[in-house]
Amino acid sequence: ASTWLNVPAGPPDPILGVTEAFKANKDPRKINLGVGAYRDGDGKPYVLYSVRKAEDILRASNPDKEYLPISGLPEFTKNATKLAYGVDSVPLKANSIASTQTLSGTGALRIGGAFLARFYPHSKVIYLPVPSWGNHTPIFRDSGLEVRGYRYFDKKTVGLDFEGLKEDLKNAPERSVVLLHACAHNPTGVDPTPAQWKEISDVVKERKLFPFFDMAYQGFASGSTDRDAHAVRLFVSEGHQIALAQSFAKNMGLYGERAGAFSLTTADPEEKARVESQLKIVIRPMYSNPPLHGSRIANTILGSPELYGEWEGEVRGMAERIISMRERLYDALTGTHKTPGEWGHIKSQIGMFSFTGLTPPQTEALAKRAHIYMTADGRISMAGLNGNNIDYFAESVSAAVK
Ligand code: PMP
Repeated sequence: ASTWLNVPAGPPDPILGVTEAFKANKDPRKINLGVGAYRDGDGKPYVLYSVRKAEDILRASNPDKEYLPISGLPEFTKNATKLAYGVDSVPLKANSIASTQTLSGTGALRIGGAFLARFYPHSKVIYLPVPSWGNHTPIFRDSGLEVRGYRYFDKKTVGLDFEGLKEDLKNAPERSVVLLHACAHNPTGVDPTPAQWKEISDVVKERKLFPFFDMAYQGFASGSTDRDAHAVRLFVSEGHQIALAQSFAKNMGLYGERAGAFSLTTADPEEKARVESQLKIVIRPMYSNPPLHGSRIANTILGSPELYGEWEGEVRGMAERIISMRERLYDALTGTHKTPGEWGHIKSQIGMFSFTGLTPPQTEALAKRAHIYMTADGRISMAGLNGNNIDYFAESVSAAVK
């Protein structure tokens, strides 16, 4: 008998499985709103001009293909922390932010999880918002942490369950780890307001919780990388020590290049050095060192005032196209198609995703009858909509809920 006789077939990934089903469909009207990757106004993957220019600059410099250090390209991690914490950040100026390049945002979360499992001296419990990005639970479980949830989304209001959130964080055991989406919450598209962030910071302080920020969409929420860094910078200025996972997948369109960073604010440069030495020891047996190309691209953009300005414009352009799709979808659903129900959340939600409120049977019907694919929880990637398919989408949604 084969060695693997007893390996059971696993379920397809709830998000990437949607793309597989989409690819198998041959209908010309088909739409993939499953995966969170930006598409241009023609539904095509979009490579940023600033990224192309950075690649031209890199090619002209004829770089080698040597290994990076274990913690990656030092200039890249420096520039990544500047982007997140802000140039005037106190721990940045004090040289007390420990950081490492990672395999995009997923890798940052995983290295962070593994580091906390090994060195966080208090609880091994991490609280995730309910719901959260589907990969958070397996990432932190496989890192060796115990995963629990705190209330986040209120189905009734299709908004933030702020009272539930505060109550659950207040009831969490002291010094638990709490995961916070820095902006553009996935999958709900619902973010706390600045005033609510301040209250969350107060609760986190009161309960001595350890905040771990996942920032996969800096710039994608509002179009401004500074505005989207508000929560992270507020927590740092409020005196919290934080952990931060950053991804350049979305805001630079570097999905497959796997460019990301993980960082921790520490007491001083000496502590930073100790923490960084242990981050390397976590990373080395996992994958030795990270990929070159993506971090070189990101670093070239972040390090050149001209490319940086151009990139900021492109981030704004992507965010604005998504926001305009929200408005058009709302108008088509409520105006043209007189769709039953309340659809204001389509416009008020933030970032790449919208939590439509469509039920699993409705999403299934949309896939079967209209060739429209989304995750079973009714989350759609707004970036998959464009002028050519939005009317067909609105009409199909309308038919599915009537
Ligand atoms: N966190 C969240 C909330 C995400 O939505 C994603 C991407 N879907 C990630 C992290 C990580 O993505 P990546 O590993 O591609 O950077």
